[in-house]
Amino acid sequence: MKKLTLSVATISLAMMSYGQTTQCEGLTKDSIQCKNKTTQVLCYLHNPNYVKSNNKKSVLCNGITKSGKNCKLKTKNISGYCRHHESQCHNCDEID
Ligand SMILES: [Zn+2]
Ligand SMILES: [Zn+2]
Repeated sequence: MKKLTLSVATISLAMMSYGQTTQCEGLTKDSIQCKNKTTQVLCYLHNPNYVKSNNKKSVLCNGITKSGKNCKLKTKNISGYCRHHESQCHNCDEID
């Protein structure tokens, strides 16, 4: 549920706030709105696409393509899914 709500907010806000610095839409563990500023909708702490450092190893995406094959893209996402297949991640809500 949380993920669905977030992605809807992400889409609408990404269009409105492009290029501006806004408060992160993410929620902290205490369910308070994150106070970080970001030029995107979510700050690096809450943005699953954010790549923290270069020395993190890329892994092969765990996602499955539309043709039913394993995705061959490398990703540095903590979730282990590339940005095309994040929606296939079932534990992404647990990652903070
Ligand atoms: Zn945040
Ligand atoms: Zn993928």
